[in-house]
Amino acid sequence: MAKPQAVVDYKICCPKKCKNGICLAVLECKHKVLKQDEPGEAPYQLGMCQGCATCVTACPYKAIRLI
Ligand code: SF4
Ligand code: SF4
Repeated sequence: MAKPQAVVDYKICCPKKCKNGICLAVLECKHKVLKQDEPGEAPYQLGMCQGCATCVTACPYKAIRLI
């Protein structure tokens, strides 16, 4: 069975509200799946999500969910 995949809801994600524009979900993703090019920019997925949901709980705005 396929693992659930993390999806960023870009209508909710607001990197500028996060401390110093740093995405907490990117910091917490131990599998290095989520990337952020610059502080203040929205994160995106690059690579194979492991479905661990760490990013879901890390984002204070509930902008990430697993599908
Ligand atoms: S996903 Fe969450 S933690 Fe990451 S930049 Fe967006 S709002 Fe901030
Ligand atoms: S679910 Fe886990 S592996 Fe997938 S992006 Fe989130 S923290 Fe990374």
